[in-house]
Amino acid sequence: MAKIGFIGLGIMGAPMCRNLLAKGHDVTVYNRSREKMAPLVAAGAKDASSVARLVEEGDIVITMLSDPTAVWEVVAETAGVLSALTEGKTYIDMSTVSPESSREIASMVRKTGADFLEAPVLGSRKPAMEGTLVILAGGDPEVAKRMEPVLHAMGNKVVYMGEVGLAAHMKLIINQMLGTLLCVFSEAALTGMAGGIPAEKILEVIESSVVGCQAIRIKGKDMLGERRFPAHFPLKHAHKDMRLAVLAGDAAGVPTPVTAAAYQLFSIARERGFGDRDVSAVLRGLTEK
Ligand code: NAP
Repeated sequence: MAKIGFIGLGIMGAPMCRNLLAKGHDVTVYNRSREKMAPLVAAGAKDASSVARLVEEGDIVITMLSDPTAVWEVVAETAGVLSALTEGKTYIDMSTVSPESSREIASMVRKTGADFLEAPVLGSRKPAMEGTLVILAGGDPEVAKRMEPVLHAMGNKVVYMGEVGLAAHMKLIINQMLGTLLCVFSEAALTGMAGGIPAEKILEVIESSVVGCQAIRIKGKDMLGERRFPAHFPLKHAHKDMRLAVLAGDAAGVPTPVTAAAYQLFSIARERGFGDRDVSAVLRGLTEK
């Protein structure tokens, strides 16, 4: 069993960490808001007094943080992950970040002699709890192979994507498609309802059609009904990913007018105070109710 240090006990990190503990790993945790560490300690984890201490004590360090800025702060700032990484240790970043920032972190990590793997995940709170995430691995294939048992404690499928940056990019593709899909679903369904088609009929017919899919199956009823938007995947993170997807298009020289328009809708919904609600609250970029 591995000695693992886990940093970032948010919606995803906390259940992922519980699954590592359940598989018998020796886990030490750290979170910026320290009160989030207590439930994991009660479940058998050790708490670290600092990031550097956590890295010193573990063989493997995992981060599950909001965005590239958070990863940069935790990794590269004074007394961060880099300050204590040495040869023989492996750092795995499972956050959703841009390919560029992942490559930059990888190059800094390798200078310490440690190994690096990017391993962003597909699936939200429920798969994180159930240990059924799909994990995309990017980096040295030998490191990816060696880390598979650890990754399999949190997910039921690991897809090796190739060099660092490719897994981060693939993750953005999925969120780019999810974000734009929820925007066009919102526009189309609200228009249909305004035209007199009941919400249940819209959902029933979509489900029976070529565009029926898991995202609408899971989120559609709430979006067209009560609109409570309980946060599984916070809108603020989806907003970040839509921005990163537009930037990825720019970097590749591929126009992204659809993603750019969807990104604007996410910006409006976030400005209206829905950043901490679910990604499905993007519908509130279109309507006050
Ligand atoms: P979350 O609940 O908002 O948790 C974010 C974590 O990052 C918290 O532990 C937070 O610490 C920490 N953090 C943020 N800024 C920090 C900083 N500057 N320094 C130190 N720690 C910082 O987010 P989440 O939903 O778990 O998502 C985590 C990552 O997974 C994101 O990259 C997200 O895009 C990705 N993801 C999410 C889902 C999903 O459905 N939720 C699915 C797949 C991938 P505090 O507790 O102190 O705020």
